[in-house]
Amino acid sequence: KMQKSQTEHLYKILVIGDLGVGKTSIIKRYVHQNFSQHYRATIGVDFALKVLNWDSETVVRLQLWDIAGQERFGNMTRVYYREAFGAFIVFDVTRATTFEAVSKWKDDLDSKLTLPNGKPVSVVLLANKCDQGSEFLAANPGKMEQFCKDHGFVSCFETSAKENVNIDEAARCLVKHIMDSE
Ligand code: GDP
Ligand code: MG
Repeated sequence: KMQKSQTEHLYKILVIGDLGVGKTSIIKRYVHQNFSQHYRATIGVDFALKVLNWDSETVVRLQLWDIAGQERFGNMTRVYYREAFGAFIVFDVTRATTFEAVSKWKDDLDSKLTLPNGKPVSVVLLANKCDQGSEFLAANPGKMEQFCKDHGFVSCFETSAKENVNIDEAARCLVKHIMDSE
């Protein structure tokens, strides 16, 4: 009888960013393949598990942590960040203030969390609600790439939880970076 050994990875991934940018919607789309227009603020910490058959020898389990209304107060604790391997920082392309908050979220994360090997965690930036069109992105061609370089993001994706744009791609990019830096 053939026995093939499979490697399993479990990664805690944070999904952070200002209130209403679409964090919960992105997780719902990614894990449950659905979307709702109806706004329901997250209460407490929500977890969702996504299992990826990465390749024939590797299974990746992503434990996605959705924050809990704490986006209002900017008081994310070390306890919440602890043992995360990566993060998505999300902003809403229709609201410039949510982009201004991105570097604050990145600084907060980097000041409270480093990987066991001393490196910073992998972070991918999500420019969400791209289905709404975006004067923001149109007015700043090339800006996002430079911003990512300057602020140490792995990469940036324009996403839509509503129309399922680029969420799988962004997650694969994040996971690949985490695995490459282990
Ligand atoms: P959170 O506070 O960051 O968790 O944001 P939610 O996921 O609760 O989303 C806030 C609102 O934005 C809800 O009304 C969602 O339906 C809406 N929303 C989320 N993602 C998208 C998107 O990609 N496109 C559009 N048009 N609306 C979105
Ligand atoms: Mg939420």
